[in-house]
Amino acid sequence: MNYFVRRNGELYCEEVAVGEIAAAVGTPFYLYSKKTLLQHFHAFDSGFAGSAHLTCFAVKACSNIAILHLFASAGGGADIVSGGELFRALKAGIDPGRIIYSGVGKTEDELRYALAAGILLFNVESGQELDRLQRVAVTLGQEAPVSFRVNPDVDPLTHAYISTGLAKNKFGIPIREALPLYQRAAAMNGIAVKGISCHIGSQLTLISPFVESMTKIRTLVRSLAENGIPVQYIDLGGGVGITYDDETPPHLHDYAEAVRKELAGLDCTLILEPGRVIVGNAGILVTKVQYTKTNRGGEVEKKFVIVDAAMNDLARPSLYGAYHTIQPVRETGAARETVDIVGPICETGDFIAKDRTLAAVVQDDLLAVMSAGAYGFSMSSNYNSRPRVAEVLVDGDRYAVIRRRETFDQLIQGEVIPEGQEAGHDQ
Ligand SMILES: *Cc1c(COP(=O)(O)O)cnc(C)c1O
Repeated sequence: MNYFVRRNGELYCEEVAVGEIAAAVGTPFYLYSKKTLLQHFHAFDSGFAGSAHLTCFAVKACSNIAILHLFASAGGGADIVSGGELFRALKAGIDPGRIIYSGVGKTEDELRYALAAGILLFNVESGQELDRLQRVAVTLGQEAPVSFRVNPDVDPLTHAYISTGLAKNKFGIPIREALPLYQRAAAMNGIAVKGISCHIGSQLTLISPFVESMTKIRTLVRSLAENGIPVQYIDLGGGVGITYDDETPPHLHDYAEAVRKELAGLDCTLILEPGRVIVGNAGILVTKVQYTKTNRGGEVEKKFVIVDAAMNDLARPSLYGAYHTIQPVRETGAARETVDIVGPICETGDFIAKDRTLAAVVQDDLLAVMSAGAYGFSMSSNYNSRPRVAEVLVDGDRYAVIRRRETFDQLIQGEVIPEGQEAGHDQ
């Protein structure tokens, strides 16, 4: 369910015509619907109503502080993976007592920053990280609240690049080695053992891998308790998939029910880290057609639609071969044709969609790249010295620019030509 709707052939975001926003802010831009964001948050969160739980939005999916602020107002926390994300979460007004910190490579500075901020939990992913965290905590005279991220060796049956819970993936501590590490941590000063966490992958369209990993987690929680190490928090990570094309992801309440059933009787607070499922279908990327052309060679005839958005703005198609539905912002009734929709970047891998059949477009038409709210702007870069695009949030019949389009000056911010390198000074 989302609020990108068509009226008289025009694409609207809630009550605002997308074309109207394009005329005002220029293209390309990301466009989010507040109503959709909140509805998805509540749809997810309400599945766990009645169980002690905390929904920590995965900041990396969509990091704009205006959007994080929305989730904070809705009672959400944050799952962060870097010092920069901690900074954003705090700026957005997220209570540090609702922030958890995941990731395999936390630096000493990042650990210190998060300890000083007073976050809820560190999801520790190795013995060396535990030792470093202890040193930092002892130096600060603090006790670090720790969960271990275990790797349950479960196949999430998703894309190889976004599967994280297999033994061959870099994430977590092999579940068989967890008990001795818990025992070591429990005996450490400066460390308070609080929980257990796992995250097996992203864009899961089946419940069974979640169930398989929960079975393993439940066994570990019981064996920890038998060894005198009770845990208070169980963090199940994120990973629930969405519909980009014809996927049929689990219904959110079925997912929640499976979780509640598997973990019943453990008397723990649940932590959930949803990202994609909240924001994915709450955002689109709006782009303008620059040129169309047909390349012919021998038997081959290929039509290209060259748009002003590129792989630096939306990396998912190039990176994972991901599929995004493309819709015209204004329906024209033109005959359909099959085209590649590509960006201006000097890479053959720079495409938004390949062999896509849609109503023929002409120069200056607007296209909407749907389902772009997750891992869209947050993965964007300045490759080819392209300023990052604007982000816009619609609320009912109003919209606000929540991130201004970058300027050329911002592109070279912080760059310095060392003194003595002026032309003509070589000897
Ligand atoms: C990326 C990530 C998430 C969010 O995953 P989604 O598939 O977007 O829900 C949650 N937890 C951790 C540790 C992650 O790395």
